[in-house]
Amino acid sequence: MIAATIEIGGVGGALASEVKARSGASPMSCLQCLKCSSGCPVASRADLKPHELVRMVQMDQREVVLASRFIWECTSCQTCITRCPQQVNIAAMNDALRVMSRAAGKVAPETTVPVFNDVFLSIVRNRGRVYELGLMASYKLRTGRLLEDADKAPMMFSKGKLPLLGPRVRGRDQRREMFRRAAEGGNK
Ligand code: SF4
Ligand code: SF4
Repeated sequence: MIAATIEIGGVGGALASEVKARSGASPMSCLQCLKCSSGCPVASRADLKPHELVRMVQMDQREVVLASRFIWECTSCQTCITRCPQQVNIAAMNDALRVMSRAAGKVAPETTVPVFNDVFLSIVRNRGRVYELGLMASYKLRTGRLLEDADKAPMMFSKGKLPLLGPRVRGRDQRREMFRRAAEGGNK
């Protein structure tokens, strides 16, 4: 079987161009075949399905796209690009759209994913490895979701999944430098 991808360049609005420049994905190549949405594990619970998001990008619907919950609920499982006849990398698009959403102050109020990401990265930067108990405590305090999943804590403690003292790895200065370079685009 011969597979062919139709690469469409030089068309589309400002949003499609920006997404392509930031992510390398080509939203204007989408044929709206829906194969991505039929395999996506979060399509049924998010506010947009993958093919709808791509269509919104094609139609230059910046406000809708940047305020979407879907861009945060994507798990980057890569199912969509595996199924896509046009190799549209929706996971990469979502990574770029998350950055754009935060920069524009459009993050969907119902999502706590940005808080989780911030807490996770802060712990990794300071400790060098994730500290689950500290991660959970900080996330719950910042989101107010104090009792959510609390029933799972006893079993996790008993299995040793929530050690009281978290790890601390040497190389804090190197980590700080890595984070600085990443924040600047990783080019220096
Ligand atoms: S599978 Fe690819 S071509 Fe089909 S709708 Fe999804 S992104 Fe578009
Ligand atoms: S990478 Fe994201 S959009 Fe694609 S199938 Fe997985 S969850 Fe859905």
